[in-house]
Amino acid sequence: MSSLQLTVLGSGTSMGVPTLGCHCAVCDSSDPHDKRTRPSVLLAYGGRNVVIDTTPDFRYQAMRAHIDRLDAVIYTHAHADHILGLDDIRPFNLKQKGVVPLYGSPQTLALLRAQFAYIFNDAPAESTVPLVELHDIDGPFDLFGARIIPIPAMHGSQPVLGFRLGAMAYLTDFSQVPESSKALLRNLDHFILDALRYVPHPTHSNVEQSLALVAEMKPKRAWFTHICHDLGHAEANARLPENVRLAYDGLQFEVPL
Ligand SMILES: [Zn+2]
Ligand SMILES: [Zn+2]
Ligand SMILES: [Zn+2]
Repeated sequence: MSSLQLTVLGSGTSMGVPTLGCHCAVCDSSDPHDKRTRPSVLLAYGGRNVVIDTTPDFRYQAMRAHIDRLDAVIYTHAHADHILGLDDIRPFNLKQKGVVPLYGSPQTLALLRAQFAYIFNDAPAESTVPLVELHDIDGPFDLFGARIIPIPAMHGSQPVLGFRLGAMAYLTDFSQVPESSKALLRNLDHFILDALRYVPHPTHSNVEQSLALVAEMKPKRAWFTHICHDLGHAEANARLPENVRLAYDGLQFEVPL
């Protein structure tokens, strides 16, 4: 049986932690777990590297995780904190002498086309632009031998996709999960999910709501991500159930595929 190695490239919310100009206890913390770049994960399997989202920190995250090739990007949605690092895939185009396929919902791909018009217009480029190929996600799909199951959820009024591979699921930026998607979140070994802060938020799940979803889905382990500076790593972990922890940049685990 093959396996998937997951690395959390970024566990922070859209502004990152430390947050610019802030000197709260978490932003000024010396605990490296309290340094959170923007939300993304690396899926490494079968000699391939696939990232979920290209954050504004993508270049730094790829260096830090020693990513030497990039085979595909899967997008959850098109908010700035999930897409703005796309331009930094260019070195992989050059090194691999080819395009990098991007997967997303039709809506996400339309927003990518609009945000990155210089990639998609036909004007001759005087300098390098990312070489990409767009693939609609309209249901479960196979990517380099792995079955990827999209998990539709709502992020305020906007749709967002989580993804399941084997007994691992990644679901960030959600405020509500429909029953049809909950059916896809059972029997998980690892469940990485949005838990922005303690205080409720209109477009994100908070700690209390995410704990309720974990209690309902009963994964073996749950990891909170997209975390803002309201949660200190050590302090928040001490208040969580044994099988639930804050994710952190660099967290790694393996799951069978
Ligand atoms: Zn986000
Ligand atoms: Zn702060
Ligand atoms: Zn978002």
